Amino acid sequence: MIAAIDLEGVLAPEIWPYLGDEFGLPELHLTTRDTADFDDLMGQRVGALSRAGLTLAQVQHAAHRVQPYLGSKEFLHRIRRHCQVMIISDTFHEFAEPMMDRLGGYNLFANRFEVDSSGRIVGWKLRIRGRKAMVIDGFRKAGFRVIGMGDSLNDLTLLQMADHPVLFRPVEKLRSELPDAPTVQTLDEALELFLSIFRKNGSDA
Ligand SMILES: [Mg+2]
Repeated sequence: MIAAIDLEGVLAPEIWPYLGDEFGLPELHLTTRDTADFDDLMGQRVGALSRAGLTLAQVQHAAHRVQPYLGSKEFLHRIRRHCQVMIISDTFHEFAEPMMDRLGGYNLFANRFEVDSSGRIVGWKLRIRGRKAMVIDGFRKAGFRVIGMGDSLNDLTLLQMADHPVLFRPVEKLRSELPDAPTVQTLDEALELFLSIFRKNGSDA
């Protein structure tokens, strides 16, 4: 069994709005919870950082201060006895790698930035965006069953492809796309649901 879990909004706060507060840039408050057009969203974010004259290093420095939600590390620790844990996110490695250490050291599948010679962000390489279904399909073709958990529309294809989709405090649009998927509001509820799935499937399924 593999647990493919979203990061922001599930295990940790959204990083971009935090950066919006840190640097006084309201444009950064829009997230994937607000829009499904990721390229448009990224264009607005990178444009705002560029106009503010910020380098990736400066932005990273702030992003690395974001802490996981209380209980996230414990949640992952408890499920890892029963499954492999993969964090699959539309965030960026440059922002979220320290978070992985704080969560207990898991594999992160995320995107990467492109920077120019002065260290400014000029673009992004979407290694995960639009490929979540492919990643989950790959796990399944390799013989694993997959529990998927996410909160926003950008998790839709991951959840559609998973054997066991779990909606974590979902936006309404996601809930209406997957009306039959169980919804949880807390990591305690998620743990209970995951454990019942493990019991039904056996730990090595
Ligand atoms: Mg999310």
